Amino acid sequence: MERKDILMLKIDYQLVKRSTPVVFPKNLGFGNYFTDHIFEMDYNEQAGWHNPVIKPLSQMSMHPATMFIHYGQAIFEGLKAFYTGDDKPVIFRPERHFQRLNNSARRMCIPEIKIEDAVCALEELIAIEKEWIPRGEGEALYIRPFVFGVDPVLGVKPANNYKFLIILSPVGAYYPEGFKPIKILIQDDFVRAVRKGLGECKTPANYASSLLGTELAKKAGFTQVLWLDAVELKYIEEVGTMNIFVRFKDEIVTPQLTGGILPGVTRASVIDILKEWNMNVVERRLSLDELFEEYKKGNVLEVFGTGTAAIITVVGLLKYKDNTLMINDGESGEVALRLFDHITKLQRAAVEDTHNWLHYVPVKEEVLV
Ligand SMILES: *Cc1c(COP(=O)(O)O)cnc(C)c1O
Repeated sequence: MERKDILMLKIDYQLVKRSTPVVFPKNLGFGNYFTDHIFEMDYNEQAGWHNPVIKPLSQMSMHPATMFIHYGQAIFEGLKAFYTGDDKPVIFRPERHFQRLNNSARRMCIPEIKIEDAVCALEELIAIEKEWIPRGEGEALYIRPFVFGVDPVLGVKPANNYKFLIILSPVGAYYPEGFKPIKILIQDDFVRAVRKGLGECKTPANYASSLLGTELAKKAGFTQVLWLDAVELKYIEEVGTMNIFVRFKDEIVTPQLTGGILPGVTRASVIDILKEWNMNVVERRLSLDELFEEYKKGNVLEVFGTGTAAIITVVGLLKYKDNTLMINDGESGEVALRLFDHITKLQRAAVEDTHNWLHYVPVKEEVLV
């Protein structure tokens, strides 16, 4: 079928001629480089979402009173595209990510975007930018969709006008350690998010509240902070860019979603995979006391984080006040390694995609110029 017939959106294409081929910098790092084009769409109450366009990435000009800058009414997503072994561009679980974008939207009084429209916009953008998908181990094209209120008005209320944008960034490892185990500080001087607050949303406020605690942890030699529940400061919640799993002798525990935790797509995928492997994975509350007690008994075998950016990241050391927990001698454990291997293969269709998690991007021979 001609691609045009199934387009949900009538996208306006304003494409630049690229200096071919794309040349990747040596060390991609994370979030440092961007592709040539962005997708953009506007919202107002009369027209709903309208004016979808794919155009050259450029500076944005904004009124200084633009609402989200002052009141934080903004949401985002983070997902990835890859090349399969036979050179087809794929996106990992886009529908699920756009569903979560809409969950965030409802909590933030932001108008939802039809999932088919968002997926269509993303497919078109990826088809145009597919040369920007890197092929190195652990590399991917990171996709950042985001929505924010743009009315130039001071006063706390939801905006009437919004922008939905998608930008793309070729990335390597998220942490400076690469894929080596990281050290994490368990923090109780600050909290990231609170149940019934914004913890379940991917919204800038949660990252703003995590900055100071994380900066202090970095100064003390740690990579990240493990946040506790904001009410009792007793239960483990998450790392702020990734969800956390603890492998005990006879169960693998991840904190249950109580409202203060971002429901990670990688978290959900890992739970499904572990179940398929007949491992005893359990979502429940996990207190620091329990963690320390089990550690003393030698029952804490592995700790790892999960996230789109971090993939599977091993935690080699955890510190809380005077307690230092060295996990598996600071080395990667077998379940984390097996998960990393499986997920990175799955994302490139090197193992069978039994769940239909891969979304193949239809690519036209003729690029739309
Ligand atoms: C994005 C994010 C995660 C990971 O979610 P994925 O869907 O797996 O990428 C975990 N915690 C927070 C706070 C996040 O923003």
